[in-house]
Amino acid sequence: MAYSAYPESASSYQMQSYDDTAWMREALALAREAAQAGEVPVGAVVVKDGAVIGRGRNAPVASHDPTQHAEVMALREAARHLGNYRLDGCTLYVTLEPCAMCSGAMLHARLARVVFGAADAKTGVAGSVLDLFAEPRLNHHTAVRGGVLADDCAALLQGFFSERRSARRAQAEPLREDALRTPEARFASPAGHYLCIDGLRLHYLDEGPRDAPLTWLCLHASPAWSEAWRGMLPVFTQAGHRVVAPDLIGFGRSDKPKKEAVHTLAWHQRVLAEFVQRLGLRHVVLAAQPGAVLPPLEAPLLRVLEGAQDDAAPFPDAGHRAAPRAFARFGVNDAPPACTVPDASAASAQRAVEYFARYARP
Ligand SMILES: [Zn+2]
Repeated sequence: MAYSAYPESASSYQMQSYDDTAWMREALALAREAAQAGEVPVGAVVVKDGAVIGRGRNAPVASHDPTQHAEVMALREAARHLGNYRLDGCTLYVTLEPCAMCSGAMLHARLARVVFGAADAKTGVAGSVLDLFAEPRLNHHTAVRGGVLADDCAALLQGFFSERRSARRAQAEPLREDALRTPEARFASPAGHYLCIDGLRLHYLDEGPRDAPLTWLCLHASPAWSEAWRGMLPVFTQAGHRVVAPDLIGFGRSDKPKKEAVHTLAWHQRVLAEFVQRLGLRHVVLAAQPGAVLPPLEAPLLRVLEGAQDDAAPFPDAGHRAAPRAFARFGVNDAPPACTVPDASAASAQRAVEYFARYARP
């Protein structure tokens, strides 16, 4: 995508650059919220006298409203707070160079300053496509600085669009002739994400921030699937962690090869290794049921003693049983755990969060 660092303008207020970085982090947190809601990740805050008086994040998709950009939302909240549409003495921080609509609103508000992160070569009008703020017939009030935490802001956008592209590709992936796909209507819970490995769709849950200090890679045993982790998942995400729970190929919502011979321990380990690599998982803790296949990955292990229950998803034909039949022949994995909990409950998750805090990215 066309997001990049923006050259610092000579007129930027260099002495305020420490504060600018700190406020931009607040805007970035809102941008992450937007991403988790499926919106293009852009966030904004309005700051006056050292305090945030307005917050906004992109929401045009969910609200069916093309004006719900992060900046407009933040300006509205700040104006309500001040009881005045003129935001004298205020600075707006936004993670992406503003568009024409938002820049127009900022000029009407007579903001003192606009500070943005990544440049937007397609719709940015603070220097990229054009520069409304430098037009003396329009603007006497608002100074602009770009490029604050530009790499972080751009990385968030790039990650969002690349995930969305691969999700669309996986959605459209035709079913291999030698495999089955359980109809969506058979599942009560909503689907998570998909990616394709060896032409087979692999389904996985992925919740919590992409740059979390800790990622729980939750590995079910046969014949369970990612739903086995529903009790632990909210505890992990409330701790600010990311949770990634795949359905191994042959289980749950993932495609199911009809032949037992496809399922070997080595093949599943390779699939998991590719999965970890393609999602760019870091600071990982493995959470595994007894008998789960583990990826070749140096990561501490949480052993969840409660065994796999037979999945409730009713499969339309016997071909769906190939993977559980094959897995019954695999050797039991006895990698030494760093910590063991009795079950996949919320209480066990809480214990695990406390124990594995030492492995979190500082
Ligand atoms: Zn805008």
